Amino acid sequence: MSEQFDLIVIGGGSGGMATARRAAAYGKRVALIERGRLGGTCVNVGCVPKKVMWHAADFAERAAQAHGYGFDLGSVEHDWARLVANRETYIERLNGIYERNLDKDDVEYLAGDARFVGVRTVAVGERELVADHVVIATGGKPSWPDVPGAALGTDSDGFFQWRERPARVAIVGSGYIACELAGVLNGLGARVSLLLRREHVLKAFDDMLSDTLIERMRDAGIDVQMNRSVAELSEAGDGVCIDWVGGGEPAHVDRLIWAIGRLPNTDGLSLEATGLSVAADGTIPVDEWQDTSVEGVHALGDVTGAVELTPVAIAAGRRLSDRLFGGRPDRRLDYHNIPTVVFTHPPIGTVGLSEAQAREQYGDAAVKIYTSHYVALYHGVLEHKVGSDMKLVCVGDDERIVGAHVIGDGADEMLQGFAVAVKMGATKTDFDDTVAIHPTSAEEFVTMT
Ligand code: FAD
Ligand code: NDP
Repeated sequence: MSEQFDLIVIGGGSGGMATARRAAAYGKRVALIERGRLGGTCVNVGCVPKKVMWHAADFAERAAQAHGYGFDLGSVEHDWARLVANRETYIERLNGIYERNLDKDDVEYLAGDARFVGVRTVAVGERELVADHVVIATGGKPSWPDVPGAALGTDSDGFFQWRERPARVAIVGSGYIACELAGVLNGLGARVSLLLRREHVLKAFDDMLSDTLIERMRDAGIDVQMNRSVAELSEAGDGVCIDWVGGGEPAHVDRLIWAIGRLPNTDGLSLEATGLSVAADGTIPVDEWQDTSVEGVHALGDVTGAVELTPVAIAAGRRLSDRLFGGRPDRRLDYHNIPTVVFTHPPIGTVGLSEAQAREQYGDAAVKIYTSHYVALYHGVLEHKVGSDMKLVCVGDDERIVGAHVIGDGADEMLQGFAVAVKMGATKTDFDDTVAIHPTSAEEFVTMT
């Protein structure tokens, strides 16, 4: 006998939690099914542990700069195992908070693997649930290449299990994860090689950001290798031997991380039972309302291949529940102008169009670019000064700002407010007319000429 709900949510990550809790706030009977730890990728093997590690590497960088500020710290030792233990304690606390929140909101939480057994009927263990609406928010997992010996490497999930820092690490990939982990490991003392199959990182970003990041990474001691593809991995003592496509001297490292993108989690869901088929890349196709081709079945977050960010999954989920259960028929997520930060060293903040995208969309004549290169005041008293860079991409006679990009100290905390301005359609004159806050790095955004 099936148990009846208003909403069944599959996946207790960023998107699933947000959808379930918002629907419950409207007084609906909601079930949420999670097969792993509540909080999903972000809390357990994503944003949260990553940001803790980023802070640790940032701390190491500040310690190395302390001399310029009059401190003699002596040799600064780092205990990786202690950091990881503290990080895991924090995450367990978050897991508990997530469970208590579901309980508080009267969402029925079922631990287990969910699979469809009918159009809107879902089985978990021995239980069978049916609802008017089912939301698939099952996220994704790291993708692995098909090269001999690939299993001798690890992925970002594996990185978070390390209990000690390896001496030499190779990271394959050029996206967010590869660049962020390169910064963390380098900052905490590993010898890092970042292996790019082409000649760029963060390919969808403005060239200013990706080119500057490569410079900054090299300057910080990361060995960035271009046009490097792994042909095969083999065991070499406790480490890994890398053979290259095209030959050349093999390399030896203690660990290798694959960071080459992510794949949607759909296996095991028995989607055929609901009449859904996945796209060629494995994602679940949805329209702008998060609706799939099957009535009453919706999908959101990473499993849809949308912008793979936690706040995007959360925003899509909350809006979907507003629309389905909150009497707000027009609610849906606008996927334009989503701001994002890459937690590299230094961090990157970006919103809107890159210069290349703007030129393609509006034509060269309509685009005006403003740039700024500056050395933040913090570096003024330091011997080794690291520069920062900004770009504003404007279009039309009124110079509407369609892109704002920054790489440098503080970029991570700087961009949120500027993203509001870009989303509201601010022009260069609006920025010029805003009085600067001095002395900050953010003021460069409103003083560019
Ligand atoms: P998830 O959070 O992955 O949740 C899906 C859940 O579904 C999982 O808990 C899974 O166990 C469960 N599930 C899957 N199949 C089933 C099933 N059959 N039955 C029951 N449960 C199931 N984003 C940011 O915005 N900022 C960052 O700084 C950031 N850093 C990141 C760092 C790393 C290393 C990674 C990997 C990702 C990072 N992200 C970051 C991306 C962010 O984590 C994801 O975009 C976000 O978690 C997606 O949320 P989701 O709800 O779609 O999926
Ligand atoms: P990304 O999609 O960011 O980057 C992966 C890149 O790796 C590809 O773009 C490709 O770049 C390169 N690549 C693909 N296959 C291979 C291969 N076989 N060998 C070498 N390089 C390859 O994926 P990530 O795994 O880094 O991250 C997944 C997503 O998670 C991100 O897109 C982001 O949305 C999210 N995330 C967000 C973070 C944040 O908000 N700070 C942090 C971490 C993740 P190319 O084609 O240029 O070679």
